[in-house]
Formats: sequence, C-alpha cells, structure tokens
Amino acid sequence: MSRGGAFLVAIDGPAGAGKSTVSRRVAERLGFAMVDTGAIYRTVAWAAVRDGIAFDDDAGLAGLLGRIRIEFRPRPGGGQLVFLDGADVSAAIRTPEISRAASSVSARQVVRDGLLELQRRLARGAGKGAVLEGRDIGTVVFPDAEAKFFVTARPDVRAARRHAELSARGDAITLAEVLADQNQRDKDDMERAIAPLRPADDAVVVDTSDLSMDEVVDRIVGEVESRLASGTLRG
Ligand code: C5P
Repeated sequence: MSRGGAFLVAIDGPAGAGKSTVSRRVAERLGFAMVDTGAIYRTVAWAAVRDGIAFDDDAGLAGLLGRIRIEFRPRPGGGQLVFLDGADVSAAIRTPEISRAASSVSARQVVRDGLLELQRRLARGAGKGAVLEGRDIGTVVFPDAEAKFFVTARPDVRAARRHAELSARGDAITLAEVLADQNQRDKDDMERAIAPLRPADDAVVVDTSDLSMDEVVDRIVGEVESRLASGTLRG
C-alpha cells in the first residue's frame, strides 16, 4: 500500500447521487477519515464571492488560494465542519449560489492545481485510511487509490433528492429550478477541459436510483473489506 499505509477509497460522481451521505457512512463504518473535496471547492468559491473575485480571474484566484486556510474539524455529534481562516463556513457554502460558483471556479486550472496538494495532504494525514469524495479523485487526485467507486443516479432522482433536502432547509426553490441547475452543473462538470467528471477505468459504478442508502453503503463497505482482506491493490 502507498502513502504510509493509508488505504484510500475514492468516491466520485455527479451532484445529488447521494455521495455525501454514502461517503460519510462508509468512512464511519470503516473507521476511516473523510475528505469532502466538494466542500473545499465550495469554500474557495465562497471566498471569491466575498472578495469580489471574478470566477475567471486566474490571477485573483491564485492570490486568494495563497492567502486562505481551509480546514476540517469534527462536528460535535458526528460529521465535519469546514473552516475558512478559523471561521465556520459549513452552512454558508451549501447554497445554490455557491454550488454554481463552485462549478465555475473548479473549471479553472489554477484552482485545481492549487487544491491538489491540500487534498493529498489531508488524505496522507489520515492514518489507517480515508474516504475521499469528489469528481476526479480516482482519475486525477489519487489515480492509485486502493478502491474507486463512481456513485451515480438518474437525473430526475438526483434532482428530487436535492429538492427535498433544500426544501427541508426552508429554501423556496422549485424542483424545476433544481433540475435546471443540476443539468447545467452536470454539463459543466462533464464537458470541462480540465479533470472532467467521468468514471475511472477501474471504478466500480454504483447506480443508487433504485437502491436504499443502506444497500449502497453495504455494497461499498463489502467491496472495500474484501480488498482490505485480500491485500489487493487493484479492482
Ligand atoms: O460535491 P459538491 O456538490 O459539494 O461540489 C461542488 C462543485 O465543486 C461541483 O459541482 C464541482 O464542479 C466541483 N468539484 C470538483 N471536483 C471535486 C469536487 C467538487 O470540480 N473533486
């Protein structure tokens, strides 16, 4: 195993496929650390909005990346909080506006390069293992991850899930708006020139449309445990 013994699980896929919940629960079951890379891109986007930096201003974004500090801290009761320069931004980065902004800044090479080392450092510091959730973990960040999954679902299913989540939070957004936003983000993420969203050749594709969360978690944990047991590095 590489990286000082840390077993790395890459969970990539489009927005709304259930990746976040699945990744968190897989990490808990395995006793692994969790690295939510989308939260990192969201935090950069939030800081860019705050500082009035245009999403295509590469020099401005480079300067921003050089001066901010992003960290994860445990959330009391489970999960994680995201901190920007010591301030908790966990809720502020979860708005539809920041979803769109994250999609824009994440298409910039300067941002992807600037965040690569942070993602790798977080995983390296993980001890026995880490679950990394994102879009390009298995293809770019850790092409040699010990287990790779591409978690996806039909667009209508993903939009309905996301809409339920936003409505529960009191957001007045309609299902049609969520679907339109999602289609745009899917298109941007899949068609961008740099690190486009696609399954790694050796990823296990898990379609969650007709599976319960428990079934998805069981399938992924089962696959990881069998690789841990056999010491197999490749699927
Ligand atoms: O996963 P989440 O929806 O929080 O990610 C927000 C946005 O950040 C995504 O739509 C995607 O554009 C970008 N992202 C990325 N690469 C990652 C994680 C997220 O480009 N590894």
